[in-house]
Amino acid sequence: MQIIKSRVELQDWSDAQRATGLRVALVPTMGALHRGHLSLVKEARLRADRVVVSIFVNPLQFGERGDFEHYPRRLDDDLRACDEVGAHMVYVPTAAAMYVDDFSTTVRVIGLSDLMEGAARPGHFDGVTTVVTKLFAATRPDVAIFGEKDYQQLTIVRRLARDLDLGVRIVGHPTIREDDGLAMSSRNRRLSSHQRRAAASVPTAISAAVERALSDGSQVDDVVATARALIDQEPLAQLDYIAVFDSTTLCPLDRFDADHRRPGTARIAIAVRFGDIRLIDNADLFMRWG
Ligand code: AMP
Repeated sequence: MQIIKSRVELQDWSDAQRATGLRVALVPTMGALHRGHLSLVKEARLRADRVVVSIFVNPLQFGERGDFEHYPRRLDDDLRACDEVGAHMVYVPTAAAMYVDDFSTTVRVIGLSDLMEGAARPGHFDGVTTVVTKLFAATRPDVAIFGEKDYQQLTIVRRLARDLDLGVRIVGHPTIREDDGLAMSSRNRRLSSHQRRAAASVPTAISAAVERALSDGSQVDDVVATARALIDQEPLAQLDYIAVFDSTTLCPLDRFDADHRRPGTARIAIAVRFGDIRLIDNADLFMRWG
């Protein structure tokens, strides 16, 4: 496995791979890798001949300075894990190289970036789409893998790639969870043991919402109330939002019509704070868990 810091070297390497007919996959990450990230790398290995993992804690997508500063960084462990799952290349750019002093371009997906996480974290998705565009330009991948854990991000990146004809196939990969259902996240490591136990309320609320959605005649309000009640029961949890939305457009749904009662049509997303740690999760409302 190779490790590269320079964009030009990555471009040369990637061009050389494609020149010999090999397909290149990119897995963008911010490091502190867990099994969720590594499952994306394994998926990438199935879909391409060469796999690039990028590790870059992108300052542009953090609103709260503290969140950026406290974001876990463990490069040595990450490199070892990437090697173990068969990545061929790890791209670790520096912030200074990524954003020159007079960097002045923003890539923005209008509309989708303003809903849910975009409303809660203004500018967040502009930071994501700007860095993802730069990572695509550096790697020129045939395929890029993103987690459904960040479903809104996945949808926005799909739109970005389509709108700008980036020539990269965007693949979504299912969320990998801990035994109690909590979606794996680099932020989970910052939870105290009490908060970690309390965080199980998030997947509990989501799975109850899914069961409710699947039960006869239930409507959006019932589903939201079911999830809300379970989060409200947990004293350490502070609900940020619960959203029920169309899986493609991300538009909020106020009722399930016949078109929104099938798998792949409607989702629920939840954002909850445990102290200063904010967790997000989501699921298809018409697909049973487990
Ligand atoms: P991050 O390092 O948090 O920016 O995440 C990098 C990629 O890993 C994104 O595409 C995430 O959606 C994905 N990811 C994060 N957590 C998980 C998980 N638990 N299961 C699957 N993919 C995940």
